[in-house]
Amino acid sequence: MLTIPTCCWLCQMPLHLPQHGICSVCLKALPSPPPVCPCCGLPASNSQTRCGGCLLHPPPWQRMILVSDYREPLRKQIHQLKFSQGTARAVMLARLILLTWLTARREYLLARPDLMLTVPLHHKRALKRGYNQLAPLAKWLSHWTTIPWQPAALIRRRAGKVQHQLVASARRRNLRGAFSLEIDVRGRHIVLLDDVVTTGSTVTELSRLLMRSGAARVDIWCLCRTL
Ligand SMILES: [Zn+2]
Ligand SMILES: [Zn+2]
Repeated sequence: MLTIPTCCWLCQMPLHLPQHGICSVCLKALPSPPPVCPCCGLPASNSQTRCGGCLLHPPPWQRMILVSDYREPLRKQIHQLKFSQGTARAVMLARLILLTWLTARREYLLARPDLMLTVPLHHKRALKRGYNQLAPLAKWLSHWTTIPWQPAALIRRRAGKVQHQLVASARRRNLRGAFSLEIDVRGRHIVLLDDVVTTGSTVTELSRLLMRSGAARVDIWCLCRTL
């Protein structure tokens, strides 16, 4: 169920517009990321054109929308979202993604994706925690943008080792063949939702799978990118 918070999640002040979850003061005070490449989301000399790395080795997705680099106050909020049943907190976090996307959309005349997918959790870890923390984010974003969300389209087939304990090359090996796609995505413009993108190996593997399966385009929306 989607519950509506009545106080700002960051400063606890009552909200005029409860559905926002964050007050205008806290919204303005959020740290904005340095100029980042519109494709990989890593620091770049400008945010208009792809960085040298993306020109040389284009990732399998087109554009990354990120709210902030991975630091406070979002780091704590994302942590809470993971380890508590934070559906109300999710409203605020989903709204930050929405605002970031709307701004980029206006600025760069971006097309609206026509399908929303979420990075699947490993079954056991999702069960241990009780839920996928991306679900409430996706529910709200889908509701506001009217982009349909398919929760079970991407499945994690086998338990990889916990990614953050591995170095980059081992991460890629660990993920090869780890996911399966359960729906037809031919010709679709897909947005893939994640909370924190670190090395990008998971979204790379998933985007490859989607593009191989005939998707027209993949964009990534996330709260934070570790820079
Ligand atoms: Zn506030
Ligand atoms: Zn780049």
